[in-house]
Amino acid sequence: MKAEIICVGTEILMGNIVNTNAAYISAGLAGLGISCYYQSVVGDNDARLKEVFDESSKRADIVILSGGLGPTEDDLTKETVSRALNKKLILDDKAWKQIQKFFEKRNLKLTDNNKKQAYVPEGAKVLYNKNGTAPGIIVEGEGVTAILLPGPPGELIPMWDNQVVPYLRSISGECFYSEMVKICGSGESFVETDLKDLIDAQDNPTIATYAKTGEVHVRVTAKAGSEKEAHKLVKPVVKEIKKRFGSKIFTTDESVTLEASVIQLLFENGLTLAAAESLTGGMTMSRLINVPGASNVVKMGFVTYSNKSKRKALGVKRSTLEKFGSVSEQCAKEMVKGCASAVKADVAVSLTGIAGPDGGTDEKPVGLTYIGVSVLGSIKVKKYLFSGEREKIRESATAAALTLLRQCLLESLPGAAGEDTESGV
Ligand code: ATP
Repeated sequence: MKAEIICVGTEILMGNIVNTNAAYISAGLAGLGISCYYQSVVGDNDARLKEVFDESSKRADIVILSGGLGPTEDDLTKETVSRALNKKLILDDKAWKQIQKFFEKRNLKLTDNNKKQAYVPEGAKVLYNKNGTAPGIIVEGEGVTAILLPGPPGELIPMWDNQVVPYLRSISGECFYSEMVKICGSGESFVETDLKDLIDAQDNPTIATYAKTGEVHVRVTAKAGSEKEAHKLVKPVVKEIKKRFGSKIFTTDESVTLEASVIQLLFENGLTLAAAESLTGGMTMSRLINVPGASNVVKMGFVTYSNKSKRKALGVKRSTLEKFGSVSEQCAKEMVKGCASAVKADVAVSLTGIAGPDGGTDEKPVGLTYIGVSVLGSIKVKKYLFSGEREKIRESATAAALTLLRQCLLESLPGAAGEDTESGV
């Protein structure tokens, strides 16, 4: 089964909004094992939308459209698709009642335009919208199934998860099962190289890699007559990936983040954490504190951006700063040591580096970063050279700090769980 995605909206074409709906739907299709070879973006224009829809309908069994279901004149997705499929638009009473209720509840005045949203192509399956006014629509005709979804992600995502995914599962006649293996400390090209034989031989299950900053996610998806059979097909492939990447795998649970895996390790081992950040200015701590239950382990964070603050708050020696500079292995070491002892934390992490765009030299280029980790007094400092813009360098440094923290914890704590950690503590 092949699907295509068409995102409708002049705002997307103009670069005013980022097309996150296409990314969400694509990832969902991959998870269902449905092939998607084309995505299009088209403005709010009837003729051009019709042209794109007709093209997609020739290539795909299912065409998924997002946006253009609103009440205004330029919202024309439903009208254009109905015309292409030779369907009349008829009022759906339930949708109309829901729209009226939505307005009543919020004390808003209904206009004639709002009634337009309750019209659906004849014979369509209506996807009622609890989070907005425009219902979604699934309609078949001319050899294709069109799925129309509202543009706002807050409406599209729950409609996709709760109504479209079960529908796609039901029509495919096959069961899909997928697992996500999340790897830290290896780039995407390394992961792909290490998995090349498996990727080249892939058929069922399929293997897809997704690069994130400092992480690579590998999705293994199988289809079979039953979920049990699909699970059976996925299992040996995931086992092989685990064998190849070992402790670099921080989870096979889709919902677990790298920071959650670090918090979990600290919590399981009864350890407390502090951080001293220079170039990342608190980003590492922010990611860790985003994890529910972080208060059980996180004690304190320092943002020590100036040399003076590194000396005063962390006890970095003036002579160290003069001799080696603030971006140096020695400084990162003294930062992490001082941080752990000032807070009386079992574990500490320090970051110092040059985020750019200025401040780099031949000897110390932009992106040079030192990260220190102290676990129960045992200190490790690692040197990195990140590339990209200032923000990218700071994000990469944060991801590397979490990865190094996790690695040092696993090395120092014999028997510490390396994978399949649960989120939340
Ligand atoms: P509405 O009833 O709100 O008008 P709609 O279905 O007509 O919904 P649009 O008018 O096309 O949708 O878009 C409404 C908003 O939804 C946009 O301003 C934007 O914030 C968001 N949106 C639309 N399309 C996308 C997309 N592809 N990715 C991310 N956000 C989107």
